[in-house]
Amino acid sequence: MNIKDKIQKDIALKPFTTWQVGGAAKYYLEIKSKDDLSAAYFWAKDKQKKIYILGGGSNILVPDNGVDGLVLRMLNDKIEVKGERLECGAGAGLSSAIIKATGNNLSGLEWASGIPRATIGGSIRGNAGAFGQRMADLVETIEAFYIKTKKFIVFSNRDCKFIYRSSVFKEKADYLVWSATLRLHKEKPETIRARIEESLSHRVRRYPKLPGVGSIFKNLDPLDIEKGNPMLMNELKDKIGRTGKISAGLLIDMCGLKGKTIGGVKVSLEHANHLVNTGHARAEEIVMLISYIKQQVRDKFAIELQEEIQYFGFE
Ligand SMILES: Cc1cc2nc3c(=O)[nH]c(=O)nc-3n(C[C@H](O)[C@H](O)[C@H](O)COP(=O)(O)OP(=O)(O)OC[C@H]3O[C@@H](n4cnc5c(N)ncnc54)[C@H](O)[C@@H]3O)c2cc1C
Repeated sequence: MNIKDKIQKDIALKPFTTWQVGGAAKYYLEIKSKDDLSAAYFWAKDKQKKIYILGGGSNILVPDNGVDGLVLRMLNDKIEVKGERLECGAGAGLSSAIIKATGNNLSGLEWASGIPRATIGGSIRGNAGAFGQRMADLVETIEAFYIKTKKFIVFSNRDCKFIYRSSVFKEKADYLVWSATLRLHKEKPETIRARIEESLSHRVRRYPKLPGVGSIFKNLDPLDIEKGNPMLMNELKDKIGRTGKISAGLLIDMCGLKGKTIGGVKVSLEHANHLVNTGHARAEEIVMLISYIKQQVRDKFAIELQEEIQYFGFE
């Protein structure tokens, strides 16, 4: 079938986001093959449409009036086990990868248990992590699509330039993640199960039940706090977490913002770095609450919070 016959129009994106917020994609295509991916880029170039890549929608905010462009939803979700390696399509769910790994006594991804809907591609782009571990520790190679040439290129772990919650795929919009080889290691099944349980129970205890997207803001580097506000850093010196960072949620909490509500969006009472949809949140209200939090933290501490979430199709 020709690519233009596969592209759908005016598809609601809300169900594809964990926040359950936002309007429709003007054009929408589910990507399962390399040919369709290339063809989509040629179509968009010809029609002068912008392309947006959608993974599991667990880290994005979609505007209320929708996305004026072509949204490609990554559904290349094959996972194969090769010895101690997992070969995963970018559209494969982290949770499916954990199930596959566990079934083969492979350890390394347990920290991600309980992150809903996230895909391998989205998690590599943002170098997702928890409990001191992150995707960068597991990636052996990435096959990426280079948008300029419409060719596929292999990246080593080093080429990916992973840093805290970022990678070359985030810094440069020229590439998208097509597939990944993750290097895990053999472990006793009971050890793997115990780590999964630990991650799940931590998330159940600490994280809100209402729809959200995980942490809104990046945690902070103590050196940056020290530069902007040495007195505050002195107060927080025993609050440095396992990742060497200071929790953004802590600063938001210190501003007394837990429970702060604008329309249908609220700062979670369980975790101040999470904003939850209490029913009918609008993207506009989320943007306002994010801006209010940043202003409060700036006024109180002279610290600038930076979003971890991605604004999807706002420009
Ligand atoms: C309850 C909850 C808990 C969470 N806990 C954590 C946590 O512990 N640690 C953590 O790091 N995150 C956490 N998150 C955030 C989120 O799950 C991760 O950031 C996840 O990796 C995003 O993956 P995704 O597939 O949903 O990406 P999406 O939200 O779909 O997209 C995120 C960004 O990646 C881009 N993208 C998606 N796929 C690709 C691709 N193949 N190639 C290039 N770009 C792509 C999108 O264009 C977008 O800019 C949590 C979220 C929720 C809802």
